[in-house]
Amino acid sequence: MALPEAQSPVEPPENQQQRLARCRALIEREIRPRADACDAEGRLPDELPVMLGREGLCGLVVPEGQGGRPVDPITYGLIHEQLGAACAATRAVLTVHDMVAAAIGRWASPEQQADWLPRMARGETLGAFALTEPEVGSDAKAIRTEAVRSGDGFSLHGSKRWITAGQIAHLFLVLARCDEKPTAFLIPRGTPGLTIEPLAPPLGLRAAMLAELHFADCRIPAGWMLGPVGSGLNHVAAAALDLGRYGVAWGCVGLIRACLEAATRRARTRVQFDVPIREHQLIQGLIAEMAVDLKAARELAMAAGRLRQSGDPDGVIATCTAKYFAARAAMHAGQTAVQILGAEGCAAGSPVQRYLRDAKVMEIIEGSNQLQQVMIATDALQRQGRL
Ligand SMILES: Cc1cc2nc3c(=O)[nH]c(=O)nc-3n(C[C@H](O)[C@H](O)[C@H](O)COP(=O)(O)OP(=O)(O)OC[C@H]3O[C@@H](n4cnc5c(N)ncnc54)[C@H](O)[C@@H]3O)c2cc1C
Repeated sequence: MALPEAQSPVEPPENQQQRLARCRALIEREIRPRADACDAEGRLPDELPVMLGREGLCGLVVPEGQGGRPVDPITYGLIHEQLGAACAATRAVLTVHDMVAAAIGRWASPEQQADWLPRMARGETLGAFALTEPEVGSDAKAIRTEAVRSGDGFSLHGSKRWITAGQIAHLFLVLARCDEKPTAFLIPRGTPGLTIEPLAPPLGLRAAMLAELHFADCRIPAGWMLGPVGSGLNHVAAAALDLGRYGVAWGCVGLIRACLEAATRRARTRVQFDVPIREHQLIQGLIAEMAVDLKAARELAMAAGRLRQSGDPDGVIATCTAKYFAARAAMHAGQTAVQILGAEGCAAGSPVQRYLRDAKVMEIIEGSNQLQQVMIATDALQRQGRL
């Protein structure tokens, strides 16, 4: 049996190919070899953001004029595929960083942009996205964190939970109610009234250094608001989550590829009943399912990428579709890879059990499978209604 492709067969635009090749080499050299240790320890190396910033990976959505090294959506996706195959936790930390950088690039004042974006592009300032609360998950409009007007600024009260990179981020994009309307704020770490409580590593993305944020009379100036009052969910968070879903979709393509690579490697070398297990047709069936899912997930992610590239508004629903399919397929591929590796796949430190745990989280973050289904069905019903 031929090996699955070590690299994605999809090629980015010509001028981005060298960039992609350099990023892939960096990920293979610096990130993949440490992924299992990071997962076991539940943390990323301290120097990671600045190292990635030096290589341009923290400035993928930052304009050149602000020190970034932006890439087109397809190259962005292919980099996230490689990250997803190497270390889903690193991919998640970079994705939320990009969500915050993109929101600043789109909604912040020129002063805020000049203040944050160059440092974010260098990886010196890591961004984190704080929407979820202890009592509020999928129903984001129900957020309770409040920004009360106080003097020339605001005083924040409330808590945010499950915040990726919360333990290490320098800047939080926080969604809070202001005048009863969801509104976004940029709040730096160290602001008095903000305390950060590390969370124990969860099932998957164990190294993503999650934290809970507590705001108690956290006083901030008016200039830290991002976008107008009331634009926090429908504009700022919606655009950020759209980018986040795109990163997750491609990250899942990478996870499926990693599962397929691990499973085929084992199927060639493991001998049972006197033959390599790849010769058992039931094993071939499992491998075929993963191979088909990989191709389908990549096609859906590419379709979303092409629409995003051309600025087509249908890129949003295409991204939901890609994320929904790829997350489910990654979960399936994780289970299948563990099955093919047998006990070896269950062993502590085995990458495939990490892939399985990480894939489960992909079905929950950036809008759960059920929320994606609701959005996809609503879109389908509207389209049919137009016929
Ligand atoms: C590892 C990890 C990292 C995360 N990182 C971040 C982060 O950086 N920033 C951040 O803000 N949040 C983050 N989250 C939180 C994540 O976004 C939420 O977990 C997610 O939005 C779902 O919310 P919930 O877990 O509260 O589930 P709930 O909303 O309580 O949902 C529970 C179940 O009910 C289903 N459900 C809910 N509503 C409906 C509906 N209308 N129809 C059908 N089914 C429904 C859901 O699909 C789910 O299966 C992270 C979570 C994890 C696990």
